Amino acid sequence: MDLYEYQGKELFRRHGIPVSAGRLATTPEEARSAADSLGSEVVVKAQVLTGGRGKAGGIKLADSPQEAEHHAREILGMDIRGHVVKKVWIEEASEIAKEYYLSLTFDRGAKKPLFMFTTQGGVDIEEVADKTPEALAKLHVDPLAGLQPYHARRLLFAAGIEEPGEQKQIAAIVEKLYAAFVAEDAMLCEINPLIVEPHGRVKALDSKFTVDDNALYRHPDVAEMRDLDAYPAEERAAREKGVTYVKLDGEVGILGNGAGLVMSTLDVIAQAGGRPANFCDLGGGGDAQGVVDALEVITPDPQVRSILFNVFGGITRCDEVAQGILDALGRMEIAQPIVVRLDGTNADEGRQILADASPPNLHVEETMLSAARRAVELAGH
Ligand code: GDP
Ligand code: MN
Repeated sequence: MDLYEYQGKELFRRHGIPVSAGRLATTPEEARSAADSLGSEVVVKAQVLTGGRGKAGGIKLADSPQEAEHHAREILGMDIRGHVVKKVWIEEASEIAKEYYLSLTFDRGAKKPLFMFTTQGGVDIEEVADKTPEALAKLHVDPLAGLQPYHARRLLFAAGIEEPGEQKQIAAIVEKLYAAFVAEDAMLCEINPLIVEPHGRVKALDSKFTVDDNALYRHPDVAEMRDLDAYPAEERAAREKGVTYVKLDGEVGILGNGAGLVMSTLDVIAQAGGRPANFCDLGGGGDAQGVVDALEVITPDPQVRSILFNVFGGITRCDEVAQGILDALGRMEIAQPIVVRLDGTNADEGRQILADASPPNLHVEETMLSAARRAVELAGH
């Protein structure tokens, strides 16, 4: 679960990482009174679960409460990469002398938490990793031994932090970030930028905080931070129906059984020159209800122009899935063309069932690649 900047900063604050004082606002008037209570200069920040808000015009400095209100009016309702701004965070403005970058995430290959730190903050970290990899200091932490103070010093040394005041403050932030990461069952904690103010104080100006969904039961306070409004309607419907679903931004709706198969289906759609509209995993079941639930989740999405069923029968039998698809078609009106590829247990029987019924707008393909090509073609490519 991704947290908003203001929520991540609240966790930072609880763990002793310095952040600016701020208040949340959902209307321009609230923004004005928030700015009024915070004093002099503030920054109005769009709260959306995506990065690059600054570039998109979602972050603006204001000299007065009136100006904060004006900026909030502009920013609220703004669409930032598909995320509509419903809340703004009003924060005491900071003066920035330097912008650094600090993150902690899992390196799955090494099976260890990984710190990354660079003095080239504020920009896209991918760009730093790409253009000046030597400027990106990395440090793995042994999860059993935990973080030792010399680790933090080594990380700062590798990134070229020489100023003693900065060394001391950033080393403390590194230790607190590690403690926060472990205590909150985080998957990612990113501070970009970590700023140095002109008089030398270091603080977190932004926050990206992702908590492991599977550990949320241990953190009722964090679980409560989930904002259902932030999820697209389809994702909410999927959550309610228990369908594994992730919205993507292409045109071909994908339904498969098993995460591995669905992921390779995404690849094959790309190979066929199309773009997947979603990731939808039917799981083990292929019964009519499961198929109806999944179709109900994906078909209302106006971006979906065609649908590809990619099912490999193992324990799930293809004839059952075929019957499930027919039952689903009988129960609901579906505008988009559907391509079906069945393989594995009882695939022939499954295909026969579909051929016999031959519902309009349903196309059966033999292979994953031909099915993907057909679905892409039907999506209008
Ligand atoms: P992002 O664009 O979504 O990563 O949002 P950030 O919170 O990182 O803000 C983007 C940029 O806005 C920062 O890198 C800063 O340059 C600028 N910014 C944000 N807050 C302040 C502030 O309090 N004072 C000043 N001067 N600039 C700020
Ligand atoms: Mn940022």
